[in-house]
Amino acid sequence: MFDYHVHSHFSADCDIQMEKMIQNALKKGIMEICFTDHIDFDYPDPDFIFEFDLQTYDQHIHQMREHYGQEIAIKKGVEIGIQPHLIDRYNEVLNEESFDFIICSMHSTAGYDLHSGKFFEGKTLNEAYETYYTELYYCIKSFKNYSVLGHLDLVKRYRYDQNVHHFLEVIEEILKTVITDGKGIEVNTSGYRSGLESGMPDMDILRLYKDLNGEIITIGSDSHTPDTLGYGYQKTVEQLKDIGFTYITTYEKQKPIFHKL
Ligand SMILES: [Zn+2]
Ligand SMILES: [Zn+2]
Repeated sequence: MFDYHVHSHFSADCDIQMEKMIQNALKKGIMEICFTDHIDFDYPDPDFIFEFDLQTYDQHIHQMREHYGQEIAIKKGVEIGIQPHLIDRYNEVLNEESFDFIICSMHSTAGYDLHSGKFFEGKTLNEAYETYYTELYYCIKSFKNYSVLGHLDLVKRYRYDQNVHHFLEVIEEILKTVITDGKGIEVNTSGYRSGLESGMPDMDILRLYKDLNGEIITIGSDSHTPDTLGYGYQKTVEQLKDIGFTYITTYEKQKPIFHKL
């Protein structure tokens, strides 16, 4: 079991020590954990400053490897919150600092954060979805400094209606770009916890990714508390096998490593 999306006290929305996460991962039989703490520059909600000191983070990961490295593989990742005006800024940081794994997520669209609901105000759901996917596509056309796209259909977690248009045409373009660039997507199992019937992205998007010959997939719980580590892992593996995927991916120094399912 690999958990490739885990937060710790380095994230502004998490107060659990990295060590505690590791100890709980060990109890759950997780073989490899990748910390993906938040860097979300210019986050619209001023209550959250999603930044941390990169040197301290690096030192902390190294200390954890010294203590627990025999029992569990610990990877140094990051989850960045992309916005169109931040592409150069992220490139600067990511060219300077070495990470094993980078999740590119979009938590804010059109200058509003999805979490507080501000983004959805004054928009129909179709408009909100269209804006979200179009902006994500815009970003990844020029931003290439990442390993996988995080929770691709996140917009759905906050507002969902069966009748909403799913914008699979734009999503297809996004996935083609991901594949051409040698990147991947994650399955974020927090979807199950927030009432969706699947992880993020959903089965339709995963099938589309398979049809387009997408191969790189990581699985992550997006844990901000120790109890959710590894959540939904087996279920996700079974779903991926059903769709026809044969590998799951981990990363080292941003190089994908494939493991047979
Ligand atoms: Zn996220
Ligand atoms: Zn996250």
